[in-house]
Amino acid sequence: MRVAQTILELDEALEPLRVGFELGLVPTMGALHAGHRALAQAARSECDATVLSIFVNPAQFGAGEDLERYPRPLEQDLEQARLWDVDLVFAPEPSELYPAGFQTWVEVEKLGGTLEGALRPSHFRGVATVCLKLFNLVRPQRVYFGQKDVQQVAVIERLLQDLNLNLSLRVIPTVRDPDGLAVSSRNSYLSSEQRGAALALPRALAAGARAYAQGHDPVVPARAVLDEAELRLRVDYLELARWDGRLVLVAAVQVGRTRLIDNVVLEEGEPR
Ligand code: AMP
Repeated sequence: MRVAQTILELDEALEPLRVGFELGLVPTMGALHAGHRALAQAARSECDATVLSIFVNPAQFGAGEDLERYPRPLEQDLEQARLWDVDLVFAPEPSELYPAGFQTWVEVEKLGGTLEGALRPSHFRGVATVCLKLFNLVRPQRVYFGQKDVQQVAVIERLLQDLNLNLSLRVIPTVRDPDGLAVSSRNSYLSSEQRGAALALPRALAAGARAYAQGHDPVVPARAVLDEAELRLRVDYLELARWDGRLVLVAAVQVGRTRLIDNVVLEEGEPR
């Protein structure tokens, strides 16, 4: 497995893979876990070579968020990536992607301003910009994203369409721990008590999905589950959204200082 920390090293490592190889790109912020593994495995099974990027993107964190304390276990991550048969890891420093004088941003206007975007105003601008940069640098045929961050998927889909990028977006189902909590790098912030409280999130979404399947409003029973846990968590939002033809119940909660997001698909749309 090659590891590139600069754009020059990335170009050198990619050169032999430019012709006749289908490249898959898995963008991550590291602290790799089973969710990332599912993305890497999908890329590996569908592409000739897999590039995994590890970059804690400062541009997608707001003031007062967890940029400084976000886990960065690079050596451990490289070990994982090796085990997953990743061909190339791109792990640049912020100054490599945002050199002095940087001032060009991609804004997915409406979509990037709702739900997560309403609570984290420049979040999707940071996501869209760094993803476009990674797509331009790696030039993959396929990019892999997780269903867990469903609004991010919708933003990337919009970006690909609006800017006429010719690559295929693959969306991988959410990987969960046996207790139902969606695997996330941020779960490491939770004490065991907080983790117990956080379980209300997947339980609420499951209650919503059950109600919807029986022809009822999914929000009411989901809200009831979250309300039961109200002393131990704060609900940022719980709403229905329709993105890319899919109806999803999306939610974000805060447990202590940790923010968790999750969603459940209620209705599949047209195949991508
Ligand atoms: P992150 O490192 O949190 O920015 O996530 C990198 C990619 O992994 C994103 O496309 C996420 O949606 C995806 N991802 C994160 N957690 C999960 C999960 N539990 N299941 C599937 N994909 C995930």
